[in-house]
Amino acid sequence: MNKANDQLARLCAYKLLVKGTVQGVGFRPFIYRLAKRLSLNGYVKNVGQGVEIFIESRQPALNKFLRALKEEAPPLARIESLVFEKAKPLGKNEFIIERSNQEKSFVFISPDIATCPECLKEIQTPGERRYQYPFTNCTNCGPRYTIVEELPYDRAKTTMKEFKMCPDCQREYQDPADRRYHAQPIACPTCGPQIIIMEAKTRKAVSNSLDYAAQLIREGKILAVKGLGGFHLIADALSPTAIQRLRKIKQRKTKPLALMADNLKTIEKYALISPEEKAWLMSPQCPIVLLKKKKDLKGIAPEADTLGFMLPYTPLHHLLLKKIPLIVATSSNRKEAPIIKDDSEITPELCDYILTHNRKIAMRADDSVMKVVKGKPLFFRRARGFVPFPQAVPEALKIDHQVLAVGGELKNTVSIFKNGYVVTSQFLGDLDDYQNFGYFQETISHLSRLFSFRPEFVVSDLHPNFRSTSYARSLGLPHFEVQHHYAHILAAFLEHQLPLETKVLGISFDGYGYGDDGQAWGGEFLIVDYSGYERFAYLDYLPLPGGDAAAREPYRMALAYLKKAYGREFPMVKSLKKVPRERLESVIQMIDRRFNSPLTSSVGRLFDAISFICGLAPQRIEFEAQAPSLLEAAASQADPVDRSYDYLINKSSEPLRIDFSPAIRQIVLELQKNIPPATIALKFHNTLSLVTMEIAKLARREKGLTKLVLAGGVFQNKILTEKIEKLAQKEGFEVFRPVYYSPGDESLSVGQIAFALNRIKSSNY
Ligand code: ZN
Ligand code: ZN
Ligand code: FE
Repeated sequence: MNKANDQLARLCAYKLLVKGTVQGVGFRPFIYRLAKRLSLNGYVKNVGQGVEIFIESRQPALNKFLRALKEEAPPLARIESLVFEKAKPLGKNEFIIERSNQEKSFVFISPDIATCPECLKEIQTPGERRYQYPFTNCTNCGPRYTIVEELPYDRAKTTMKEFKMCPDCQREYQDPADRRYHAQPIACPTCGPQIIIMEAKTRKAVSNSLDYAAQLIREGKILAVKGLGGFHLIADALSPTAIQRLRKIKQRKTKPLALMADNLKTIEKYALISPEEKAWLMSPQCPIVLLKKKKDLKGIAPEADTLGFMLPYTPLHHLLLKKIPLIVATSSNRKEAPIIKDDSEITPELCDYILTHNRKIAMRADDSVMKVVKGKPLFFRRARGFVPFPQAVPEALKIDHQVLAVGGELKNTVSIFKNGYVVTSQFLGDLDDYQNFGYFQETISHLSRLFSFRPEFVVSDLHPNFRSTSYARSLGLPHFEVQHHYAHILAAFLEHQLPLETKVLGISFDGYGYGDDGQAWGGEFLIVDYSGYERFAYLDYLPLPGGDAAAREPYRMALAYLKKAYGREFPMVKSLKKVPRERLESVIQMIDRRFNSPLTSSVGRLFDAISFICGLAPQRIEFEAQAPSLLEAAASQADPVDRSYDYLINKSSEPLRIDFSPAIRQIVLELQKNIPPATIALKFHNTLSLVTMEIAKLARREKGLTKLVLAGGVFQNKILTEKIEKLAQKEGFEVFRPVYYSPGDESLSVGQIAFALNRIKSSNY
C-alpha cells in the first residue's frame, strides 16, 4: 500500500445534511469559519432542502463540530433536522464553499431581521467605515423579504441591484471569512442608499441629516419615515398636540398608537416588562410587544391597559432614536388601505415632512404585534420578522401538488403550499376595501414569484360573498371551501404538527364565521379531525340585529341579550338610556320580527353586549374588537375574585346549547347595586372559562376527547386564554393554541391548507 492511500485511510470523514432555514442566512460562511477553526477539510454547499457538509480530519472532531454547529449557528438559521453518516475520506487539502446548482426544491427566504449587535456597534464607532450609516447590514441582519423581487436570492434580483458595490464592499462580499460574505443588501456610505428629507407639500429637499429630522419631530411636526416594509408616521410621543394631530390625520380617536423607544430603560418608565417580554422586544424579529401600562402617556392608548412598544430595528431607526428617545411610530396607511411603500403614495395631508431613501421596497409588510402569554407569543398581527417563515406539514399530509389558500375577509392572509412547506403571507388587512384587495393580489403574485409557485388547487372560506372566495372561484382550479371555525382549529393542527389520527375538541370563540346552516357562528365547540368536524355545542342562537351593523354598534347585541334574558319587559340599563329612543325602537322591532337579523352564536358579540351593558363600550365602535378589549382592560384592573355567574347548558338537544341569560340577569342586578364594572368584567371572564371547561368535560366523558384546541379571535384576550389554559391543564387536558400564528382570521389560510392537503391526499388526485 502506498503512503497516500495509507494516510487517506487514517482520516475520519463525515457527510452531514442540515435541513431548515439554512440558505441565505449566512450558514455556509459560518460552516466555513467553523471548519477552519477546527482545522477540518472538506466542503459545504446548498442542496435541495438544505445544506450538505463534508468534513474530514486526522483527529475525530465530529462531536466538537456538531456542538458548535448547534450552539453558534447564525441567528437567522433555524435547524429543523440534522443527519450525518460516516463517509469515505476524499483526502481534501482545504475547506471550500462549493457553488451549488439550483435544484428544484423549496428554497427558503429569510424574513427581514433587526440590526445585529455587531452592525449596531459599527454604526456607533467613530472611524468605522459605516459610522452613522443608516443602511448598514450583514448576513446576520437587514432587509430580506421586503427587498427580494425574484429568486434565486441574489443582489441582482433585489431592489439593491441599482447600487453598484464599491471595491471595499466587493471585497467583503467575496471574502468567506467576512461577516458580509454574500450579504446581498451589503452597502456603505460610498456606494449604498442615502436618506433625504423633503417637505411633504412641495417635495422640496430640505436636508439629509437625522439631526434635522429629530428637530422637526421635537417641534411637533409629523414625519412619514421610510422603514423596511413601508412608511411609519412618526411624531413626538411626549407632545399631546402632535399626537392629537396625528389622530386626526389617521381618523383614529382612541385606537392605541405604537411606540418606538431607544432602549429598554425608556420603555420601563411607562410599562412593566417581564423577562420573556424583554426577550421578544430584543429578538431579531423585533415585534411590537403589548406591555402592561405602568404610567400613562397622554393620548397614546387612552382606553387600553397596555402600551405597544418596539425597539429600533434598522440602523436608520437606531440613529434617529439616539436623537429623540421616544416616538409614536404608527403604520402610514390611511384607514382601510395598506401600508404605504412609495413616496408617490404619500399625500400632503398625511404628514409635514417625508424622510425617505432611495432603496425601493419590493413588498409591503407592517410591524408584527404580539402579547406574551406564559412565555409564548400571542399574535395580534404577524408580518415583518416572521414572514415568510416556512412551516413544515406533518409527513402524512405531504403531497406533490401546490395549493393556494386565500383566507377569509377581515385581517386576511394567504398561504401557499409547496414541497412539504406552508408559507403564510404577512397580514393584509380587510379585503372589503378595494385597496387592500389590491394588496392581496400583489402579495399572491409576489409569493408566486419568490417561490416559483403555481397553484393547482385553491381553497377558501365557505362564505359565498367574501371577495377572497370569488377570487378563488375565478381561478378556475379545483376549489375547496372550508367552514370558518373548522379552519381556525385546523390552523393549530398544522402549526403543532398534530398526527393524522388526532381528534380534538376544538373551541372557536370568534366574531363571525359563516356556518353550515347559513347563520353567523362564533361560539363553537367542534369535534375535529383532519377530515371533518361535528358540532358538539355552541353558544345559543339569538338575533344579530342588522347583521354587520351589530358588530359596529354594541348596543344592538346588548338589546338582543336583554330581550332574550327578560322578554318584552327588559330593564333599561343606564348605558341604554343614552341611545336615542327611535334607534332602540327600530332595533327592538328588528329583533321581534327577525328582520335583517341572522342568528348568531358569536362569543365576540356576547363580549360586545356585556361591555355595553356595563357602560364600557361606546354606542358605535371605532375599530374591530374595541368593545371586548374594553371589557378585558376593565377585568385586568379588578381586584381578584373567583366568583362567577350562572349559566345553563341545554342538554335536551344535540348539539348542546349554552344559555347566558342567567348571567345577564345577575349582571343587571349587580349594576343596579353599583358593583364596579371591573368586577363584573372579571366575573364574566370567570364564567366563560367555567362553562368552557364544563363542555370540555362533557366531551371527554361522552366522546373520550382529551385534547383541546383554542382558536378564534376572542383568544387574543389574554385573561381568558390564561384562565382556560390553566383550568384545562388542571383537569388533565392537553391544550393547543396558536403560538406563531394569530388566533384570529389571519390564520384561516393556514387551516384551509391543512384541510385541502388531507382532502387531496385521501381522494387520490
Ligand atoms: Zn449585522
Ligand atoms: Zn460600499
Ligand atoms: Fe374568525
